[in-house]
Amino acid sequence: EYILGIETSCDETAVAIVKNGKEIVANVVASQIESHKRFGGVVPEIASRHHVEQITMVLEEAFKETEMTIDDIDAVAVTEGPGLVGALLVGVNAAKALAFAHQKPLIGVHHIAGHIYANRLVKEFSFPLLALVVSGGHTELVLMKDHGDFEIIGETRDDAAGEAYDKVARTLKLPYPGGPKIDQLAQEGNMVIDFPRAWLEEGSFDFSFSGLKSAVINTLHNAKQRGEEFRQEDIATSFQASVVDVLVEKTYLAAKHYQVKQVIVAGGVAANKGLRAAMEAKFKKSKPELLFPPISLCTDNAAMIAAAGSVAFKQGHRADWDLNANPGLSMEKYSQRMMSCD
Ligand code: ATP
Ligand code: MG
Ligand code: FE
Repeated sequence: EYILGIETSCDETAVAIVKNGKEIVANVVASQIESHKRFGGVVPEIASRHHVEQITMVLEEAFKETEMTIDDIDAVAVTEGPGLVGALLVGVNAAKALAFAHQKPLIGVHHIAGHIYANRLVKEFSFPLLALVVSGGHTELVLMKDHGDFEIIGETRDDAAGEAYDKVARTLKLPYPGGPKIDQLAQEGNMVIDFPRAWLEEGSFDFSFSGLKSAVINTLHNAKQRGEEFRQEDIATSFQASVVDVLVEKTYLAAKHYQVKQVIVAGGVAANKGLRAAMEAKFKKSKPELLFPPISLCTDNAAMIAAAGSVAFKQGHRADWDLNANPGLSMEKYSQRMMSCD
């Protein structure tokens, strides 16, 4: 079956066509990074306007890449949440209009389920699996015992990993989005400071990154007052080591605790070279199989939405014509919906 995916939850206008939930037929992403750069972050009003301007072109582009027309599509899957409400509404309304006009089934997809399902474009899932979700707004360990069954067993108590990268990058006066830039600098620097690692209570799979962020800011501030300066790359290396250590160790402990068959990494920070290398080293000799999406499928795209939508489609889930943007959609609520057969 062919699923058309639409994603507009933040600052990427994306459309994709995916075959059988596993094979990308078309994948178009129009990024707005250049427009938000001078503000140092995503401006919601600007994001919505760009989506409106881009969505028709991006849709046309996706079909132009293939020999297909909307008649060849079996269902339209769209990100309904979480995300920016004005941004989500553009995708949801485009999906509704297309699906209604051509009488195709409509499917609402959770954005983070999408990030997780980017990995199914690499390899079939084996359950139980553990997903480490590290994105701009989320840091979670998600246990999956079946398709559509998402249980959060740990999450951040303050900043998301990507958010910490972006905030530290801003402190280092690096352009937005700072994650990729810090990653690059981290390859070139030295470990000069032993920044804190938030392990939290014994046995907890939760995360915390705000203390680390403050430690970086304080370190730079104190150095400046002494008239000293750290090299950006050394701060990047030291900061990244701290983030990666905690992510890898907690994922490892959770994977062992739940005896999972696969460990998958998802979200924008899954593109991080340091994280990928450390995860590969840690899971090299042990049983759970490790999956990463290709770099281009780590950040927001619509192929992942179509991939997650394909499973919901096969399970018989259909959204009504009154589907709305759901900016605060929780994983728990989505999972309950996916697990109920109606
Ligand atoms: P969410 O998915 O939680 O709603 P989002 O969609 O804004 O948030 P993503 O698109 O998944 O987030 O990821 C973007 C985040 O990933 C940004 O914070 C960015 O800095 C970070 N990021 C991207 N590439 C890298 C990298 N190589 N190293 C570290 N962070 C990265
Ligand atoms: Mg983005
Ligand atoms: Fe995302």
